[in-house]
Amino acid sequence: MALIVQKYGGTSVGSTERIINVAEKIMATRSQGHDVVVVVSAMSGETNRLVALAKSVAEPPKAREFDVLLATGEQVTISLLSMALEARGCPARSYTGAQVHILTDNVHTKARILEIDDQRIHADLAQGTVVVVAGFQGIDSEGNITTLGRGGSDTTAVALAAALKAEECQIYTDVDGVYTTDPRIVSDARRLNQLCFEEMLEMASLGAKVLQIRSVEFASKYNVPLRVLSSFEEGLGTLIASEDISMEQALISGIAFNRDEAKLTLLGVPDKPGIAYQILGHIADANIEVDMIVQNIGADGSTDFTFTVHRNDYQSALNILHNTAKELGVREIQSDNQIAKISLVGVGMRSHAGIASTMFKALAEEGINIQMISTSEIKISVVVHEKYLELGVRVLHAAFNLDKAA
Ligand code: ADP
Ligand code: ASP
Ligand code: MG
Repeated sequence: MALIVQKYGGTSVGSTERIINVAEKIMATRSQGHDVVVVVSAMSGETNRLVALAKSVAEPPKAREFDVLLATGEQVTISLLSMALEARGCPARSYTGAQVHILTDNVHTKARILEIDDQRIHADLAQGTVVVVAGFQGIDSEGNITTLGRGGSDTTAVALAAALKAEECQIYTDVDGVYTTDPRIVSDARRLNQLCFEEMLEMASLGAKVLQIRSVEFASKYNVPLRVLSSFEEGLGTLIASEDISMEQALISGIAFNRDEAKLTLLGVPDKPGIAYQILGHIADANIEVDMIVQNIGADGSTDFTFTVHRNDYQSALNILHNTAKELGVREIQSDNQIAKISLVGVGMRSHAGIASTMFKALAEEGINIQMISTSEIKISVVVHEKYLELGVRVLHAAFNLDKAA
């Protein structure tokens, strides 16, 4: 019997009625002859509520205890769902991450899954039991509870699907698939039937929060077909799989965006070897991740150096730069946390010229100034003022006719 892993997100289990609806969907999948392992998130709003509770007693809360607290959200939903299944005559057992040995590293609040012990799960499945696992949590080698970062239940689901060699990992959420861009921003965004892992990875990394990035990395590494579906309506959703099985080969698959970054610039940096290392070395030492980096060609022995970091790291990065600036004799520091990054993603870009110019023209026609540009084989990102984010996304969606099927 083919095994399916299903994950239900916060909105899908947001009330007891919805949990019962999920139980019914699981039973329908079983009646089609599948074994089912289910991963659930906390009820919608619950993780945010727990975060706020922690912050009201300690700022910042101790990471180990924070994880103990956050992991409780999913324990509520696994038990309720299993009760709902049992009450309807479907054998089910709930497990926390620790109980099924989802072993992670010890990086609290953003732990990585290292290993899963599938024995207990297989034993239950063999007896015809639905296995319900708490998403977003694991345990480190010393027995401490860890969590996997916001949106981490997606990763639990894919990791389980990989470990159990499931036929498909289905991610049930509040939209009926992956869209050309966030349907909350562009009303004529279109649902995509298929995407390849690489494209989804770029979409997720560049801001499309429908799937946690690590879940897509896992799916790609272990070649687990992923399907994003709605828990409220029927449909085929969006299949994310390796490129050879796909695909429509659209020029542009989608537009991702994020407003989580901030920009820092050093003007008049001495133009000599080792400068980039000196600037970014201090930033890296503080565990701050850098995203885009731009260095100008030098003139008169000096150059300008710009990079972006997550907005949460903005102040710390700025403090570090003030010290570096003194060390290096930099003319001026400029900084801006009102920026947004908009990215076009598509494997079809590989074989087409002219995409960048179409993008820049469309933005120029709306008077949107581009502050930074970065490209790879399958994406082009621009940084613009935050106030142009929605307009920029809409204009590009229209310029590339993304509302129409390729
Ligand atoms: P869940 O709680 O089920 O994990 P999330 O809120 O994490 O759900 O993810 C679903 C949301 O992702 C949608 O409601 C939508 O607003 C957002 N989203 C962002 N970009 C996209 C996209 N390209 N396609 C579909 N949804 C997107
Ligand atoms: N409950 C966690 C969160 O809200 C994990 C998840 O839903 O995937 O981020
Ligand atoms: Mg999510």
